[in-house]
Amino acid sequence: MKVLIVGSGGREHALAYKIAQSSRVDKIYCAPGNAGISEYAECVDIKATDLLGLADFAANKEVDLTVVGMDDPLVAGIVDIFEERGLRIFGPRKNAAIIEGSKAFSKDLMRKYDIPTAFYENFEDADKAIKYLEQCKFPIVLKADGLALGKGVLICNTLEEAKIGVKSIMLDKQFGSAGNRLVIEEFMTGREVSVLAFCDGTTVLPMTSAQDHKRAKDNDQGLNTGGMGTFSPSPFYTEEVKSFCEENIYKPTMDAMKSEGRDFVGILFVGLMLTEEGPKVLEYNARFGDPETQVVLPRMKNDIVEVFEACIDGTLDQIQLEFEDNAAVCVVLASNGYPEHYDKGYHIHGLERFKGSEDYFAFHAGTKYEGDTIVTNGGRVLGITAKGKNLKEARNNAYKACEWVQFENKYSRTDIGKAIDEA
Ligand code: ATP
Repeated sequence: MKVLIVGSGGREHALAYKIAQSSRVDKIYCAPGNAGISEYAECVDIKATDLLGLADFAANKEVDLTVVGMDDPLVAGIVDIFEERGLRIFGPRKNAAIIEGSKAFSKDLMRKYDIPTAFYENFEDADKAIKYLEQCKFPIVLKADGLALGKGVLICNTLEEAKIGVKSIMLDKQFGSAGNRLVIEEFMTGREVSVLAFCDGTTVLPMTSAQDHKRAKDNDQGLNTGGMGTFSPSPFYTEEVKSFCEENIYKPTMDAMKSEGRDFVGILFVGLMLTEEGPKVLEYNARFGDPETQVVLPRMKNDIVEVFEACIDGTLDQIQLEFEDNAAVCVVLASNGYPEHYDKGYHIHGLERFKGSEDYFAFHAGTKYEGDTIVTNGGRVLGITAKGKNLKEARNNAYKACEWVQFENKYSRTDIGKAIDEA
């Protein structure tokens, strides 16, 4: 069969690697893809947000299955457009992708269906938001309602900071229309864990857990980024936490969406905070996480295309997910200066050492071909993933493999997975 992947980052590279392993697949396209993805897929120059262009391409090439990695096309309704044209696609429809596209929606859903999350209020009026803040305890969390590239969350330590935050989100529209509404949320403390789950609208099958590192600098300092590294599984996601989440979070979320007439088919990404009062939902996403996917999929034993098909056909209850009994760590190699200003176009050396390996991976995020050479083409350049028999070994392997790769202005955090030592 022919598969089309939509997206161009490290997550889509990991998806391409995993889809290429399926015995049922003989051709992969990726739109728009990147230099690394071209090892598995024919990259086509169509933007991930050009929904009609993508549907035309899938129809012309008789693509059997389209898999969407990114959030923007899902929230914009790519699944509805494909389905209207009789094209098979994996992901939630627009009315279900809203679980990621509107934080106010997802918070109201959790409140209505009693799913554990932080206390909150939604606002459409800046003056009312400020009045409310005057009687809040600090720190407090401000969240722009819509998609903001993972940057629409502000943790404010004082009322002054919060007032500035309300102004920049709601009045100055720092994140555009994403700031038309604002969620003001109680600040929680605890360990963060991410769990991705396959969903067919009724059945939910959670994958192994992972933990991201969002800040740019060591010890969780510096600006928020798209993610600087991950490890899987999380030692803090114990059997007890897992069964609590299955019973009180994953299944109730699926059921809640169904009750609202918004059957969720696709990947539900649940960001959890393990608080003293128990696990609570930080956020939902409606797609694979980046860079969580880069540590989860290399450990997955199933044929992923069979699982995608079961989600679309509503037969997920017949699938049993299996993961290797090991660990994986992904360290992001970025361009110095990311997430602010950085230079592009530097030659990348050393990638040949990863070719064909099943234990070491260089997942490309911001790369491109310049003639025959691969050059840096973004803030996050590569995700170096390594497996190991346990988390410590995987981390040592990942940092060892980071040394194999050289490019000018290479930057990475040195403490990905440090939390493992405290487990
Ligand atoms: P992304 O989609 O890129 O993961 P986002 O913009 O949807 O990010 P959230 O995941 O909701 O944002 O929040 C980003 C980070 O802010 C979280 O990973 C967490 O560290 C912190 N955060 C969010 N909500 C809270 C909260 N209520 N208490 C404490 N920290 C929080």
